[in-house]
Amino acid sequence: MQTTIYPWQQMLWQKIRQGSARQHHALLLTGRAGIGKLAWARSLAKVTLCERVDADAVACGTCASCCWFEQNQHPNFRLLTPEALSGTTDHADKDKASSSSEGGDAKSKKKLGQQITITQIRELDNFVYLSAHQDRDRLILIHPAEAMNQAAANALLKKLEEPPPNVVFILVTHDVATLPATIRSRCQQIVMPLPDRQVAQDWLQQQGADHVEVRLAMSGFSPLLAMQFDESWLEQHQTFIRCLSVLDHLAVVGLAEKLQQLELLCIVDWLQKWCFDLMSCRMTGKVRYHLQEEAVIRKIAARINPSSLAFLWRGLTTSRQWARHPLNPRLFIEELLYRYLDSVA
Ligand SMILES: [Zn+2]
Repeated sequence: MQTTIYPWQQMLWQKIRQGSARQHHALLLTGRAGIGKLAWARSLAKVTLCERVDADAVACGTCASCCWFEQNQHPNFRLLTPEALSGTTDHADKDKASSSSEGGDAKSKKKLGQQITITQIRELDNFVYLSAHQDRDRLILIHPAEAMNQAAANALLKKLEEPPPNVVFILVTHDVATLPATIRSRCQQIVMPLPDRQVAQDWLQQQGADHVEVRLAMSGFSPLLAMQFDESWLEQHQTFIRCLSVLDHLAVVGLAEKLQQLELLCIVDWLQKWCFDLMSCRMTGKVRYHLQEEAVIRKIAARINPSSLAFLWRGLTTSRQWARHPLNPRLFIEELLYRYLDSVA
């Protein structure tokens, strides 16, 4: 797993590192998914443990501590993450997570796989209170913090209320509002920066990405998320947008057939972004997500009835909930498209 400081995080990095002597015992990194919070948190843990921090306040990458860290074997570092994210879990923690269980049947085990459990928090006790390396800092990274269930959050709260010496907790969250206020209030909150459009585009180009503008817009301007879209995803998105542009009722059935393998939430998201642009264009003359289709958006926006569009928008919010449990994906997409066409026709 990467320890990287992305270009849009450099200023924050310098600011935090300059103030490192006053580091709080618990940090809470907040911000949307796909902007590099976890990599930044790991970089912070690594540099805190590094034995030869360089002049730019970056971990040296060559000392024994850095090597342990890169191999996910640093004795003074723990990563807590749900079992379901075990691909991003340290090997040691993965074993612990899979052996932990708080429920009997398969269904509850599956559910727990999405959560950070009280067992995982309790397993920190030896590390926090009995570690052989107590003279050095010890770091615990919890990602994503909102995956802690109630019992886990309560157990963590006790540790945050009586912080053990030389222990730093780093909590990373995509959705800070869902964390208990008691946890939030005991952490120093750091709002992770978003890149501006140009910085994000430059970075994606450096990574060799194609269709940079589309990727960025459809990720909601989250560059790491933008990198995850593959060729077939981009192709399907293009087909979808074409259908919305030409307002062709006849194309709906064929398109729904093609798209039914995609995650439905993703399709609702595409339609929401398109409708956002129609509305924004109509009200302010500006397009946010579909710069390449600006001309056609202007054309459609000029003749739509704003109240029909507002009605469609409210319906899409409900569709987001249904998208998780559709009875028939193809019919769900068809219905979505017909509703759109009826609203803008
Ligand atoms: Zn080092």
